[in-house]
Amino acid sequence: MLISKIHNNKKIDMTLDILMSAILPVAQKGEEILKLKAATIASDEFSSEWLIGLSNAMNVTMFERNGVGIAAPQVYVSKRVIIVASRPNPRYPDAPEMQPVVMINPEILSFSDETDLGEEGCLSVPDQRGQVARATTIHVKYFTLCGEQIETTFSGFPARIVQHEIDHLDGILFVERL
Ligand SMILES: [Zn+2]
Repeated sequence: MLISKIHNNKKIDMTLDILMSAILPVAQKGEEILKLKAATIASDEFSSEWLIGLSNAMNVTMFERNGVGIAAPQVYVSKRVIIVASRPNPRYPDAPEMQPVVMINPEILSFSDETDLGEEGCLSVPDQRGQVARATTIHVKYFTLCGEQIETTFSGFPARIVQHEIDHLDGILFVERL
């Protein structure tokens, strides 16, 4: 029993190590995982090591590839987890700076009637950019990694990122909105 416990812990530690440090492969347009409706995170999964490990790995993968957002299905995990992290970088030189936000089970409660047309790209669609119409302002509900419920408003480019990433959770790519 002790041996199996040690073995199991070691296995979990190794999995976490990989998740914490690795730059994960990113699913590409055409792959099934990007077409699925991702599953809700259950309440007993909040604060779990795997959820924190997943968000760390998503963060590392997004930064390494100069993304300003990422959704779990893009790293082959069909769960409702996104990161929104607008900042200027070589792919988006004019992006405003914000603190990265991890959102679990995000939901858009309301969209402004006003929309903006703006350029989008996607780590899963590397060779294409396009002008997509998105609501200028959205009111969003989500949970933190610890399960705290947050309601907040996003405008402009960060609002665009949130809408793009939540689309990923519903199996939609920006190219379908062109
Ligand atoms: Zn994308």
